[in-house]
Amino acid sequence: MQTTRVPGSRCHVCGKRHSAATATQRQTDQPSPGDYAVCFYCGAVERFTDTLQLVPVTLDADTPTEVLRLVRAIKARTRH
Ligand SMILES: [Zn+2]
Repeated sequence: MQTTRVPGSRCHVCGKRHSAATATQRQTDQPSPGDYAVCFYCGAVERFTDTLQLVPVTLDADTPTEVLRLVRAIKARTRH
């Protein structure tokens, strides 16, 4: 996994500021527009825009399994 600095934005759910992204599915230097992001603090799901800002998305049948797995893992961790 590789961590990259991205333009700061706040999680739309918990309000924590994000300044870095870690790729979990592929080796890459940068997140790309349209990539999913899962908030490390609360498990909210967002996607990168063309300017790499994060915008909220709702989970549906098209949400990748890897994203759903991360959400479950983060939410289980934050319950303790
Ligand atoms: Zn959050």
